[in-house]
Amino acid sequence: MCFPVGCTRWTSMVAALALVLCGAVVEVDAQSGGTTGAGTATDATTSRLMQRLHALAADSMEGRRAGTPGAARARRWLIGELRTIGVEPLGASYEHPFVIRTRSASPDTNGVNVVARIKGTAGGGPALVLSAHYDHLGIRNGEIFNGADDDASGCVTLLMIAERLMRERPTHDVIFAFFDAEESGLQGARAFVANPPLPLNTIGMNLNLDMVSRQDAGALWVAGTAHYPLLKPLAEAAAAGARVTIRFGHDTKDLKPGDDWTNSSDHGAFHARGIPFLYLGVEDHPDYHKAGDEAHKVDPAFFRGTMEYAYALLRRVDAALPEIARARRTP
Ligand SMILES: [Zn+2]
Repeated sequence: MCFPVGCTRWTSMVAALALVLCGAVVEVDAQSGGTTGAGTATDATTSRLMQRLHALAADSMEGRRAGTPGAARARRWLIGELRTIGVEPLGASYEHPFVIRTRSASPDTNGVNVVARIKGTAGGGPALVLSAHYDHLGIRNGEIFNGADDDASGCVTLLMIAERLMRERPTHDVIFAFFDAEESGLQGARAFVANPPLPLNTIGMNLNLDMVSRQDAGALWVAGTAHYPLLKPLAEAAAAGARVTIRFGHDTKDLKPGDDWTNSSDHGAFHARGIPFLYLGVEDHPDYHKAGDEAHKVDPAFFRGTMEYAYALLRRVDAALPEIARARRTP
């Protein structure tokens, strides 16, 4: 179900007033951490979501271009958050370096993926890779491209989901992959599958989030079900309780160039290896790859809704992961 935007905003105004009048409301939500999925645009979970978005999309991160000090600062911030939440690294370190190949004559630089894991209660079986990319476009002509939607929003959603999975353990291992150098051709994700930190045949699926916070077009898209039809009932079932409009598509060859998103973000690297994927993202908006992609342009209620949908979808996928893993293609 989807609430009209105006209604949601009105509800949040009432809730804000209630919070001012009664501090105990904040206390209750802070204790539950919003685990029920209930809440409004002004509750503690949404506040934390937006605080994290503002932190990762801050000017001090200098646009997080791969190989720059700004990207290193963003990486330190992400690792700090993971440590605070209590998520362990996958392997000896959170940092998984790789070489970024440049097309120009300039020398290759180093990229670094950040990879963590929450172990599932089953103690084995396939793993789910939940991904987003933390790099963006850096500084151009003196302007900082903060990439709040692209893709600080996906990274922050991963952190929120990690926080919740620490309390509500998944059945299967969930790998949190914060990829670098997506903007230079999915290079972090390609390095991950080329030199995987866990056996590739144990990855049951990739759920990739890239641009999940802007509601300009009023909907969150789910791409990938045309390639992996068994995932559609799961994504539809999760959509039944969603507070944002969920649409399916952007994953077939008959679309005009640019509208088939099969290879337009990091999930493309998994798909190329025959690993089933679902991608969540919004339509391009006026600030797409512009300096105006700023955190203050994000509607907190919409962003909270996409986060809740991603979590609901993850739980469904987790429950069906052995069956999904059997749908792997031989590339
Ligand atoms: Zn992106």
